[in-house]
Amino acid sequence: MAWMLRLVKIGVEGEGPCTDIMEIRRPNDLVDIANLGLTLAEAKLLLARVQREIVAAQARSHAVRRPDCARCGDVCRVKDYRDHAVSTLFGQVTLRLPRFRCAACGGIEAGIAWPSHCRSTPELDRLQAHLCAVMTYRTATDVLGQMFPVDAGTHHETLRRHTLKVGEALGECATIRPDTAASPIVVTLDSTFIRSRAEGKRHLEVRVGNVETQSGGRQVFGAVAKSSTPIAELIRRNLDAVGRTEDTALTAFTDGCPGLRRIPADAGVTTPPMLDWFHVAMRLQHLKQIAGTLLDHGNDSRQILTHGLLRSGARAASGVAARTAAARAAC
Ligand SMILES: [Zn+2]
Repeated sequence: MAWMLRLVKIGVEGEGPCTDIMEIRRPNDLVDIANLGLTLAEAKLLLARVQREIVAAQARSHAVRRPDCARCGDVCRVKDYRDHAVSTLFGQVTLRLPRFRCAACGGIEAGIAWPSHCRSTPELDRLQAHLCAVMTYRTATDVLGQMFPVDAGTHHETLRRHTLKVGEALGECATIRPDTAASPIVVTLDSTFIRSRAEGKRHLEVRVGNVETQSGGRQVFGAVAKSSTPIAELIRRNLDAVGRTEDTALTAFTDGCPGLRRIPADAGVTTPPMLDWFHVAMRLQHLKQIAGTLLDHGNDSRQILTHGLLRSGARAASGVAARTAAARAAC
């Protein structure tokens, strides 16, 4: 059996011209389950063809609009046509749009409200940036190529450049504050290392975290340490983005690193940060290991342990470790 997919334009006067998009053929039986419905290749081809037809119709409709001359205000006439290649999520399309010349003063006009510098649609930019944020550039390129009829910017280096450009533009955007103010906001900040794959290349220390509200608002942030990205400013902007006001109660969680503890204060969190559960658990684990070691060495060690723990409490596991070494030496 076979189907013909036909695209019909609907105008104010009713049905307009139609275009045959694609013929789909399928066996009459379902002996092979692989023949059930559309294949991915057919779906990609279908999307790409529909996209081209719709864009061409939009370009024709846009091209009939005549701008007025910006210099003298006279009506412009068509000078020539230029092709504009634009990448979309459903393939690269070419828009044939006119340039105009003023009959009175000879001035050139590009057209009405056409962003001639654009080379891709915002939807494609957003999806590429999103995928690159959650996976490697190579994998993101592969996923896009597998799922969509994307035929421009398919190299991972191109995707990387494009994503970094989108990231730079995002950094320059003004913060959009929500209509409702958040009550308490929790800021979580931690650091980690990203090891370089190449031998001898430097490893990056990155600081990552998020701001969360009780109502479910959440923003994540991250910056490479000792880079030009101001992490405190980044946190301030994210706090504003989830509805921070002057009266909002702010609580910060970090590990015990003095460098990290200063950052929330720089970002406007006036109360001292707390240890998060993971770092509390790590310190308790240290103490548990030390206690186990000392108990293995009998009563003398137990007295030293009790004395040491009472004095140090949950503070500075390294100090307790030093006393452990001393106890071991005494045994
Ligand atoms: Zn003119």
